[in-house]
Amino acid sequence: MSAPRSVKELADLAVEPVRFLPGTSLRVSLRTAESMWKQGNVYLLEGNDEQAYILLLRYAEFIIKTLPAHPEAKASAGNWKEIKAHHARVDTLLQIISGIKKRLEERYLQYQRMLLEDAEERRRQETERRVKLIQDNEVDNDTDEEEKPWLARSLRRGSAEGSHGKLDLVEEIRGLQLDRRRDDRSTRHSTRPSSDPKRRSGVSYPTVERTEKRSSFENNSNWTNHVPLPESPWLQKQVSSPPLIPLPPPKPTSRLIPPLPQTPPPSFPAPKKGQEAYEFSSSARTEGGDPLRTLFIPKELRDRFLEVAKPNTTRNLETCGILCGKLKQNALFVTHLVIPAQESTSDTCQTIDEGAIFEFQDARELLTLGWIHTHPTQTCFMSSVDLHTHCSYQLMLDEAVAIVCAPSRGEWGYFRLTKPPGMEVITKCRNTGLFHLHDDVPGGIYTDAGKGDGGGGHVREIGGLRFEVVDLR
Ligand SMILES: [Zn+2]
Ligand SMILES: [Zn+2]
Repeated sequence: MSAPRSVKELADLAVEPVRFLPGTSLRVSLRTAESMWKQGNVYLLEGNDEQAYILLLRYAEFIIKTLPAHPEAKASAGNWKEIKAHHARVDTLLQIISGIKKRLEERYLQYQRMLLEDAEERRRQETERRVKLIQDNEVDNDTDEEEKPWLARSLRRGSAEGSHGKLDLVEEIRGLQLDRRRDDRSTRHSTRPSSDPKRRSGVSYPTVERTEKRSSFENNSNWTNHVPLPESPWLQKQVSSPPLIPLPPPKPTSRLIPPLPQTPPPSFPAPKKGQEAYEFSSSARTEGGDPLRTLFIPKELRDRFLEVAKPNTTRNLETCGILCGKLKQNALFVTHLVIPAQESTSDTCQTIDEGAIFEFQDARELLTLGWIHTHPTQTCFMSSVDLHTHCSYQLMLDEAVAIVCAPSRGEWGYFRLTKPPGMEVITKCRNTGLFHLHDDVPGGIYTDAGKGDGGGGHVREIGGLRFEVVDLR
């Protein structure tokens, strides 16, 4: 689990400009809203307050501000009714968001307090360590033979008594030094010249500020995740401020003070009992740097789809299917391959009853995770029509994937639009021609989403993952 982010940071993340690009149909916008709502609720149930807050706040903003302003919103009574159906959730939604926000604020403050306590503790330890080293030097260089046994006893006693004993020892040593200086001025002045550089340095020993006990956060064995300091200018100022107690300059006779050993950064509590203790991290990113959650696809899905598509394929007709699934612990899993009612040609495939698909999905709380289609005789690539079709999927979900199967070539591919520039190019394109061209853009309009570990892709095939094939034709 990473360091908590402030509510403001999360609220900023909730606003995503690409979702408000003009040209998105109301149909896609409504499904986008539904997808946000479902995902937000999953995160909420799993105890992932940060993601729940981002998704539900984004959803609230979307249904309250964006949807009513859509050009198609009032084009028909049916459209307006669908928007109103989302508005019916607003009261409950705002209560949920308010509750999450309160928890996030508490958690963030708790973390900030912990960081400050940790910085304070490190500073105290460093001061104590330096005092000790200086004392050791003083003892080595100054102590008369007859004083050493007494000091050795005191040092042993100090270490046995813990830090409290050490503080007393500092006072004792300081007292001893003062006594020695008085002695110097009176009885020993003639035997030790005042030009002695050590005596002239006038070292004064710092007082050690007592601080509260070490934060209990670090003593809790449940809190084992190490996290970096958050980027808060205020906090950094606190952490990097110089010690309150000025330290004496190094003396020629001093041993070099070794650097403080690296101590681990502060820990933060693991999720509470009942919350998910593990979540999948996002290793892939869009070209714009947004994280892409991992999308797991059953390894056997392509072959099953090709079996279902075979009658069409032999007649040189395309077939398409919808990838549906679940969000779990910050990763997406394809659990259903839905074959919708469709009309096909050799180069196109169009679903004809989307209502039935949505009904099926909503009854099972499934998300739309992408689509799959065949190119019966052509190679494996994204045609211009494919790009426009996929743009709608990716507007609903950044991680949505297009699987293209070219059975005559034994080829397949996992694709997504680049973001930027692919999404922007396709959203703005008004051309509806079957094989129209798009301007060449640096980075390309689409990319391979299945580039394996470390290759930048977010799609992973996984063997043995259960899934259902549902034929709605
Ligand atoms: Zn195609
Ligand atoms: Zn186009």
